Amino acid sequence: MNILLTGGLGFIGSHTAAVLAGEGHEVVIIDNLCNSQRQTLGSLEMIAGKKFPFYEGDVRDLTLVKSILQDHQIECVIHFAGLKSVAESGVDPLKYFDNNVGGSITLMEAMQAANVKKLIFSSSATVYGIPQYLPYDEEHPLSPMNVYGRTKLQVEEILQDLSRSDPDWSIVCLRYFNPIGAHESGLIGELPQGIPNNLMPYICQVVSGKLPHLNVFGDDYDTKDGTGERDYIHVMDLAEGHAAALAFTRDHKGWEAINLGTGIPYSVYDLINAFEKSAKQAIPKMVKERRSGDLPIYFAKVEKAKNLLNWEAKRDLQLMCDSSWKYQQGAKR
Ligand code: NAD
Ligand code: UDP
Repeated sequence: MNILLTGGLGFIGSHTAAVLAGEGHEVVIIDNLCNSQRQTLGSLEMIAGKKFPFYEGDVRDLTLVKSILQDHQIECVIHFAGLKSVAESGVDPLKYFDNNVGGSITLMEAMQAANVKKLIFSSSATVYGIPQYLPYDEEHPLSPMNVYGRTKLQVEEILQDLSRSDPDWSIVCLRYFNPIGAHESGLIGELPQGIPNNLMPYICQVVSGKLPHLNVFGDDYDTKDGTGERDYIHVMDLAEGHAAALAFTRDHKGWEAINLGTGIPYSVYDLINAFEKSAKQAIPKMVKERRSGDLPIYFAKVEKAKNLLNWEAKRDLQLMCDSSWKYQQGAKR
């Protein structure tokens, strides 16, 4: 199939591009490089052994997106392009609504005009909010606790209304849990700008000597070892989940929200221990206050993805850490 990846040079988009190209799909990428680098395109082309048509541009540019859809006879769009910092979204909400919600609406308009009606959207487990029960299934009430999560929920709702208005649409909202890890080649991975907010990239920078120690945000939660527990998923499993969702859109119409996680929660200390094995060194750490807005624990119910997409995560925590470390060592050069 001819597929457009918005935000395709970002962390999840680049790994998905590698998987889809490996399956023989024609992948076209648009990215404004606000949180990625052009050199990722070269790495991706080394992995795939072929060139990708790339447009440096913004999904809010209706004319550009429409012409890409038409010129490449795009059949399905995977919409990764978005801003993802929870903290920044609270400080600058309009930037987040403009980019994440406004960008998605412009994309939908362009797709409608070009008669492209298959869309896979990058949503997030943050749409659920405080757990009423765990694991979160897709029927769990939706009540995001921050602006970022509200942008994701709003786009999901707009997409649902769009599919109600026109039954030709096939829309899958993938609710990601915590993607970490990197491509097995070590050529692409997660490259956050500045000091990372998330646990895995922070650990990578501590181990590579760029940051002095890891702050463990709270060890007094009601969890197995007192630290926060999350459903970490290998980014290559996540990428393969997109390939499965793409296959699903061939024969199914309507709107679906589907969790992509492993169903297994791991604590901060679990991740530290696994990473210490990968890097064969101790990670200096200091226990700090809980981070405001953090939930103690959440993880996915994964049956819907198994049933509808015939997909489940296969890679374990050690492989997630090994691949992150391999990428980090290369990124240092
Ligand atoms: P990322 O920042 O690495 O990738 C997003 C890409 O989109 C970047 O390359 C950025 O330059 C591009 N982009 C942003 N706004 C754009 C715009 N208006 N026009 C064109 N390009 C634009 O993030 P990621 O981790 O790969 O996440 C991809 C998507 O998945 C995002 O929508 C994010 O909100 C969502 N998501 C991520 C996580 C996570 O933990 N990484 C979890 C849940 C959901
Ligand atoms: N965390 C931590 N130190 C850090 C970053 C994160 O202890 O420097 C903890 C955080 O409190 C949470 C877990 O690691 O329990 C995962 O945090 P992350 O930001 O990676 O994901 P999210 O909270 O968005 O699910």
